Amino acid sequence: MNTKKLGEFLDDKKGYVKKGSEQLMEILVDKGYDISKLTKDQVKEVLREKVKLSKAKKVKASPPKILTYDIETSFVLARVWGTGKQYVGHDAIQDETQIITVAYKWVGSNKVEYLKWSRKKKSDKKLMKAFLEEYNKADMVIGWNNNSFDNKIVNSRALKHGLEVNTHVKSFDIMRQVKKVFRLPSYSMAYVSKYLGLGGKLQHNGIKMWEDIAWGSKADYKQSMAMMVKYNVQDVALTEEIYFKVRKYLSGVMHAGVLMGKSKMTCPHCGGDHGKLYRTIVTEGGSIQRVMKCKKDGVKYKVSNAEYLKSL
Ligand SMILES: [Zn+2]
Repeated sequence: MNTKKLGEFLDDKKGYVKKGSEQLMEILVDKGYDISKLTKDQVKEVLREKVKLSKAKKVKASPPKILTYDIETSFVLARVWGTGKQYVGHDAIQDETQIITVAYKWVGSNKVEYLKWSRKKKSDKKLMKAFLEEYNKADMVIGWNNNSFDNKIVNSRALKHGLEVNTHVKSFDIMRQVKKVFRLPSYSMAYVSKYLGLGGKLQHNGIKMWEDIAWGSKADYKQSMAMMVKYNVQDVALTEEIYFKVRKYLSGVMHAGVLMGKSKMTCPHCGGDHGKLYRTIVTEGGSIQRVMKCKKDGVKYKVSNAEYLKSL
């Protein structure tokens, strides 16, 4: 083994970077490497380089980019023979779901942004191109029922227009997470926000707004579109407010700390280092787990006992 090979070994097994040179040399011998050509000083130097590098990486890592968003979609027209219960097959459908407006807000920014479709072209292609520039930057997206609705519509419209989309984006669907932990009479966003004592959703004049947007006169279109944007923007602001209210009671979907190059002991929500032991639990299989609580935001998270002991 030479210094280059040792460097590669350490890149592969980052845990050994923290060892002293003597200890590391013993480990290498135990593992069957021939280190006769390596001096202790050389090993020290390689270790120093690697520590420097890993520190530089940590400083550079910025907080995760988290995007709250909400979309409003168009009608799908279908031909029918009359009223009453009936089966509507795909050949009766005349057009496809498109995104009329999308509102979004980066966590940490104060501004809710929005995009509108092109009514003239009856197309969301431009909207999608612009929105995906943002969406694809996100480490996590937040929404209300977005795992079942918004994310899938975004994916479908990207597919339609042949655009790049991150289908692996981490997604915190507040409705889905809330359902796992709380039993509420309703899981509509309007109800939950009322339950939490937050401002209600904006009122709008229902289906007429969508009709105006699809077929209304220029004046009606303008008025209804302005209302839809307002409604959409308000929803995003409210979604984020709800997220911050409920987050500490729920499990997360990603680890902010690890994403920033820190250890698993850091808070998965804020990446902070100030987790305190909250409870020790033991699984049915006898494994010890530690429940930590972040001092900053109250978020609780589980770590393995090995990880916990390592941090002491
Ligand atoms: Zn935290």
